[in-house]
Amino acid sequence: MRTSEGKIDVGSVLVAGREIDVREQIGLPPSETLSFLGPAKVALTVRKLAEGLELEGTVDVEAIGTCGRCLDDLRFPLHLDVEERVEAEAERSETLGESNLLSGDELDLSDLIRQLIDSALPMVVLCAEDCPGLCPTCGRKRDGSCTCPPPTE
Ligand SMILES: [Zn+2]
Ligand SMILES: [Zn+2]
Repeated sequence: MRTSEGKIDVGSVLVAGREIDVREQIGLPPSETLSFLGPAKVALTVRKLAEGLELEGTVDVEAIGTCGRCLDDLRFPLHLDVEERVEAEAERSETLGESNLLSGDELDLSDLIRQLIDSALPMVVLCAEDCPGLCPTCGRKRDGSCTCPPPTE
């Protein structure tokens, strides 16, 4: 499998109504809160709808984020079940709002996947559901490295 930037030519889908299978590894740009260990493994079927495209399949990628409490780096696998519509005319996607995902015959899968990941993830990711976070007094992690007395209520 080759790694691409995620720009897919969907001309044959739009014009001839053909269904295409996209099996690619797509490099995703990191954001402020999230980066990726490798390219996303994409397995999508793209078909034509009356007004636009339908994408269906899965995306898997190994993500690296930061715990919202203790600020530790954490690695976690992301699996997305994709069922998404992209309108050709208005260039917008049903759940993602206005965007330029589709320009002419070119579908920006990388951008689409980034948006799907952002909407799939909670605002804050945690290394563990019960992560104790950082001590407000010494700033160390409250997992034994901090020896401050417990805060008095
Ligand atoms: Zn944590
Ligand atoms: Zn402390």
